[in-house]
Formats: sequence, C-alpha cells, structure tokens
Amino acid sequence: MKAEQPRAAADARGTPTSDRSLLEDPEEMRLSGYRVVDAIVDRWAILGEGPAWRGAAREVTEPLLHGPPPESGQPLEPVLETVLQDVMPLAGRIDHPRFLAFIPSSPSWASVLASFLVNGFNVFQGTWLESSGPSQIEVTVTEWFREWLGYPRTAGGLFTSGGSAANLIALVAAREAAGNPRSGIVYVSEQTHASAVRAARIAGIHGTRVRHLPVDAEFRIVPSGLREAVHRDREDGFAPFCVIANAGTTNTGTIDPLAEIAHVADEEGLWYHIDAAYGGFAVLDANTRPLLSGLELGDSVSLDPHKWFFQPYETGCLMVRDVARLEAAFRMLPEYLQDADWGPEHVNFCDRGLQLTRTFRALRVWLSVQRYGLDAHRREIARAIELAKRTAGRIQEEAELELLSPQSLGVVCFRYIGRPAAAPHSLNELNREIQNRIVQSGVAMLSSTRLGRAFSLRFCILNTRTTAADVDLVIDEILRTGRELNA
Ligand SMILES: *Cc1c(COP(=O)(O)O)cnc(C)c1O
Repeated sequence: MKAEQPRAAADARGTPTSDRSLLEDPEEMRLSGYRVVDAIVDRWAILGEGPAWRGAAREVTEPLLHGPPPESGQPLEPVLETVLQDVMPLAGRIDHPRFLAFIPSSPSWASVLASFLVNGFNVFQGTWLESSGPSQIEVTVTEWFREWLGYPRTAGGLFTSGGSAANLIALVAAREAAGNPRSGIVYVSEQTHASAVRAARIAGIHGTRVRHLPVDAEFRIVPSGLREAVHRDREDGFAPFCVIANAGTTNTGTIDPLAEIAHVADEEGLWYHIDAAYGGFAVLDANTRPLLSGLELGDSVSLDPHKWFFQPYETGCLMVRDVARLEAAFRMLPEYLQDADWGPEHVNFCDRGLQLTRTFRALRVWLSVQRYGLDAHRREIARAIELAKRTAGRIQEEAELELLSPQSLGVVCFRYIGRPAAAPHSLNELNREIQNRIVQSGVAMLSSTRLGRAFSLRFCILNTRTTAADVDLVIDEILRTGRELNA
C-alpha cells in the first residue's frame, strides 16, 4: 500500500484540504458513504445464509488486527475492506434469523439510518438551547411511551444507552427520594438482571444491603415475602427504600405479580422500580397487555427499545411516573450553562440522567414509527409471542424434550432428555454438549441458563426475520444431536 495518496482537492467551501487532513472531499464522502450503505444492505440480504455466530480467540484476532496507529492516512476503501472482512464477521449476528441466544435485536432500517443521520448532524441532545427540534422529538416519543405504559401526565423520561443505565438512574432517583439513607435496603429477586444489582453497587449501596427475595415455582417474587423482609429489616434498624420487580426476566421471561408488589411498595413507602427492559414493549400487544397489568403502578420503568422495539444498540429508556422526582435527583445547571434554562416547559435532558453530552436516540424510534407505523411494530411483537407459544407447544409434544419453565413472552427454556430418558445426572452435560455442537455448527446461536440445578437451553424469539421454519430447524438439530450423543 502506498503511503501517500492524492487527497481531495478542496472541501465544500473551496478551501484546499491537502493541509487540513481531517476534512474529506464531498465526492469522496458520497462514495465511501454509499459503500457503507451497500455493505449493510448486502449483509441484510443474505443474513440467514451464513452462520449465526462466528468468534475467534485473541491469538487469531491479534495478528490480524492489532498494530500501532499509522502516522499517515490512506484511502478509506482498503480500510473498509479490512473492517468488513476481518472485523465485523467475527461476531454474533444478533439479527440473524436463528440467533436465539440472550436477547436478540433486529433494528429496522429506518432506525439504523436515524443513527447515521444523527451522527452526521452531530446533535448535542443535552439542553433545549442546543437542540430544540431533537428535544421536542424526545419529548414526543417519551410521551408515546408514557401512554403505552398507562402512566399519568406527570410522567416523563429520557433515552439512555440501555437498560443498565436506566436501572442505575432509577435507583439513584429512588435513593435520593428517600434522602439517601445510610442503611438503605434494596429488594430484588433471585431472577433480577445483574445490571440492577450492579446499579446498587455503583450507587453506593453495599451488597449486604441488597436483599435477594426468593421466588415461587414460576420464578416470580412472592409479595408476602417482600412484606416480611421489609418488616424484618425495619426491626433490625435498616431503612428499606426500593424494590425492583421484573416485567419479563431475561432468564425466563417471567413477569412478577406487578400489581400486588405495587400494593406492598405503597404500604411500605418503597420506591417501586420495574425492570421492563426486555418485556415492556409487549404492552403493545393487546393479548399480552393484561399479563403486564400493574406496569403503570411502578414509580419508574426501564425499557430497552434496542430489544423489543427493533432499534439499534444503544437505545434504552427510563420512564418515571413523576418526572419531577427524577429531575430532583439529576438536575444540573452550572454557571456556564446558565443560558440553557428556558423554563420548565423546555426540557434539558441532561437534567434527567447521567449524561450531559448525549446523542439523539429518540429519532431512531420516531423515524421507525413514522416509516412503518405503530401497527407494524405491534404485529411483530405479537408474532414473536405467538411463535414462542408454538415453540413451547412443539417442545411439549416431543417426548425427548422437556419444558423447564412456562413459556413467557418470547422466552422458552427447555432441555433434551432423550427417550428412554437419559440418566438424570448426565442431563446437564448432555445439554451443554448439544448447545456447543449447535453453536459450533453455525446453524443457530443458542445460549443456556440454569434453572434450579438444571442446565437449560433457552430460546428468546424476537427477531423480525425468525420464522416457524427457523425454529423447527433448530429443534430438529437439537433432537438429532441429542440422539447422536445419547446413543
Ligand atoms: C437487557 C436487560 C438489561 C440490561 O440492559 P442493557 O441494555 O444491556 O444495558 C436489564 N434488565 C433486563 C431485564 C434486561 O433484559
């Protein structure tokens, strides 16, 4: 590769760019931009044909990609080729139709374009002064969310990097609302997402002050157990201030008894946070809405549009029932931002969370809904739940498979048991090996979990590309592999 390449002659204003090497020639910008668009569209066109996952150890990636920063630049084309050939393929294809692991994500094209557009316009979405149009869109989209949740007019929120940030912001708001008690106690369930537990650590709540409530046979918090724990802690001189419930656990899709927990939280004066990062958008499906009843009773709710609202990473959200309590915890207006106070009607989103400099994430959702309509999003959510139900049905019919938790939302947990059933002590090993072989074959990306002492295979169905035929194919492969290993 030649060290020097002829550079663009002039930028858009006619200034020579040869000595201003961070500026690009407009025609070069177009060409490389189209190249990137082509790469994405080409990828989408054949997404299901390649493996669902590829990864490599450091000994492979390092010789390929590690190196010192070059002192002088080079044309984009060969560098983009390296990125497209050696970097991007070594990753899970999270939007692959048979990527059923963890919580998949399949962003809509409009939302991807919005991300690109916003970066190109370099929006500073921290204050109304610096982004009134974008701030209006964030107000509008969080207003949509408010209505979907069934929250009152006092509610509001903000976009975040994801559920982890939303959980942290909520917990800090809860802690501040309680007057930051020295001996504050937070209640979570055994099934609560690790990010909520970590949020407590970040917020200065020592691990010994995070109580893991036991769950019932279907992995739900037992409200009477919460009440007893609160009473016990009060007697012991602690200051219970927050309970975190789940509207769709990551593990099993379980929805806690939201309304009953609200009742206990209300009686005991606890801030009630609901982690709906995974499951929250299922409120849009009329058949599922009743299962999420009580979601509107949380003091705060975490949502992840980058999961079940078909947005690219990082698109998370926190909604707070009384947004004034959020701003009470996060407001900042240093002297150098004094010009940025336009009055209460004009939200400065930096006053609602961790970030001052923020990108304009709300546009992704807004553009996606404008382009495809809310109905298309709603139908995709409903379709995934139907497919998960159908999958659980098939698993129950197959004598060699065993459902390990009731299908909830898009999550199905199960294992191979064989017929005649394999010895119980070998089932964990057997299923681990099945998972390994399926992942290595590339046919699907599967993750596992532990339910009690059982190693469980787990499907999370969410992707707009996943069809019944995809799921059947993976189940067939699991059966075939199981038989082979169990022979
Ligand atoms: C994914 C998830 C989180 C973490 O969210 P990120 O967007 O990964 O930061 C928190 N809680 C639940 C229930 C989740 O599913």
